[in-house]
Amino acid sequence: VTDGVTDAATLAVAEGLAEIAALLGLRRGERFRSRAFRTAARTVAALPLPVSALTAEERRRLDGVGASVDRAIGELLEGGTSSYLERLRADEPAGVGRLVQVVGIAPRTARALSAAGITDLDRLAAAVDDGTLGRFVKERTAEVVADGLRRVDLVAAGRPVLRQARLESEAWARAMAALPGVARADAAGDARRGVAQPAALAVRVVHDDGTAPADVVADLLTLPRVVRGLDGAAGAGASRTAGGPGPVVVLVSSGRRLDVHLAAPAAAGTALVVATGSAAHVAAVRERGLATAADEAAAYRTAGLDAPPPPLREAAPPDVPGRLLRQADVRGDGHVHTDWSGDGHDPIDALAAAAAARGYDWIALTDHAVDLTMNGLTREALLHRDHAIEAARERHLDVVLLKGLELNIGVDGGLDYDLETLLGQDWCVASIHSLFQRPSAVQTERILAAVAHPAVDAIGHPTGRLLGVRPGYEVDVHAIAQACAETGTALEVNGSPRRLDLDAGWVAVAVAAGAPLLLSSDAHRVAELDHMAEAVLTAQRGGAPVELVRNAGDPPRRTAG
Ligand SMILES: [Zn+2]
Ligand SMILES: [Zn+2]
Repeated sequence: VTDGVTDAATLAVAEGLAEIAALLGLRRGERFRSRAFRTAARTVAALPLPVSALTAEERRRLDGVGASVDRAIGELLEGGTSSYLERLRADEPAGVGRLVQVVGIAPRTARALSAAGITDLDRLAAAVDDGTLGRFVKERTAEVVADGLRRVDLVAAGRPVLRQARLESEAWARAMAALPGVARADAAGDARRGVAQPAALAVRVVHDDGTAPADVVADLLTLPRVVRGLDGAAGAGASRTAGGPGPVVVLVSSGRRLDVHLAAPAAAGTALVVATGSAAHVAAVRERGLATAADEAAAYRTAGLDAPPPPLREAAPPDVPGRLLRQADVRGDGHVHTDWSGDGHDPIDALAAAAAARGYDWIALTDHAVDLTMNGLTREALLHRDHAIEAARERHLDVVLLKGLELNIGVDGGLDYDLETLLGQDWCVASIHSLFQRPSAVQTERILAAVAHPAVDAIGHPTGRLLGVRPGYEVDVHAIAQACAETGTALEVNGSPRRLDLDAGWVAVAVAAGAPLLLSSDAHRVAELDHMAEAVLTAQRGGAPVELVRNAGDPPRRTAG
C-alpha cells in the first residue's frame, strides 16, 4: 500500500481519462459524461495502490466508474490509449484535449495554438517562456496560463480535503457501528486531527467481548462500499488491539484507503490513540509506556500524559497553549455572503436565523464589493443591501447583524468604493481575488496596504490557496502577521473546504507574532455555516489561543476612523 505515491502507469491512465473528460467537455450535451470521466481521472490518480492491481470488477465498484469509464481504463492499461479517446481526438486539432485542461486556455485558443504547432504542454511551456503565447492571449491571461501550467496535478485534485474526509469517516463509523458484534465506532485518523488533505481515512471500531475480531473483519469486507482488503486484510484473524499487528486496511469505493482499528472494550481507548495518530505522536507516546486502557484519557495516563486535543498530536510532547480555542468559544462568523453577492444563495433573514440557531451572538454579512466582476455590489446596490440589513435587524433581535463587505485588494493595494463608504460599514474583510502571479514582494505590499487601511478589520484567505487546485500566491506571511499584530487587523482562518487559509502552519506563525485571528465559514449558503468546524480544527492545529480569536468574544465594534 502506498500513501498516494502514484506509479507512472496509473498516472498515464488518469491523464487519459482526464483528456477524455476535457474532449467531452467541448461537446454539447456531454456535461455529465465529461464529469464522470473527470471524477474517475482524479480518483484513479489518488488511489492508494496501482490501478493495475485492481481487477475489472473491483474497478467498477469505484464511485463513478461505469462500463464506459472502465473500458477506457482497461484499454489505457493495456495499450497506452483507448479507442474512445482516439475517436474523440480525431474530431479536434492535435493536442486540444490536453491544452484546454490548463486554466486560462479557452477551446478557441487551444485550437489556434494547435494550428500554430503548439500541441502539447511542453510546447505550451516553451511558448510561455519565449512570449509566443502573447500572440494568442492577453497579457493577463498569459500570466494565468503560466501559473496553470505549474499545477496540472491530478493526484492533489483526487485527494479528499478535510471536510470530505470528515464526512466520509463519519459515514464509515456509522456503517461499522451497525455491524453485528460491534459496540461502537468512531471517526479517527488525519481527519480527526484536522489535517488539510488527509492521505487516508481511519475509524476505531470497538467489538463486543464475546465477538471474534475475525468475524467483524469478515463482515466489514462485505459492506457494499468496500472494494477490497489491502495488506492481506482478507486473512486478518489476529486480535488487532493496540500494540498488535495494526489496522485492517481496505480500499473503499471513493478510492480512498480506510484503516480500521479494531479493539475489545478494555483496549478501546488505546486503539483510539493509535487510530488518531499521528504516527510520530503515537511512537513518542509508546516510548513513554502507552498501555492498554478502555478510554482515551486513561490510555494517555498510562504514559503519564494528559490527552492533548487531537489537532495538536503532531509532535511529542505537544505544546498545548494555556487556553486553546474550542468550537464552543466561537460566538460569531466573520465572513458570510448573502444573496446580495452574485454567487450568494440565501437571503439575510435565513442567514440571521441560522446564526441565531447556532447560538452565535453576531454574524458579519460580508458581500462581495464592486470590483469583483459579476459578483460584487454596485454602490447603489450596496445602499439597498444596507437598508435590507437594517430592516432585518428589527426581525432578528437575538443576533447582531454586521453590515460588512469582502473588499478586493487591487494591484497597488487599493480597495473598492471610497473611504467614507467603507467607514460606514461595521466590518470589512479585504481579500486578493486577482493577479495571483505577481512576485512575493508585490503581493506582500498589496496586503500590507490593506492591513494599514483604517476600514479593514481582517485579511480574507490570506494566501489564496485552493487545495488540490492551486498552491496560493507567494507572500511574506511573517511580515503580514507582524503588521497585523501592530494594527490589530485580523488574519482570517477561512474554513471553506478547499481553502483552509490560513493553513495550520501559518496560524502558528500568526500566533507567534501575536496577530489577531478571524475564523470564518465564508458561507455562500446557509448550510455552509458548518464550515466553521474546519476553521476551528485548522486554528487548533496552529495552536490558536482563545484570546487571539476575534470571533471568540463580543461583536466587533469599529474603533478606527
Ligand atoms: Zn474571497
Ligand atoms: Zn468570501
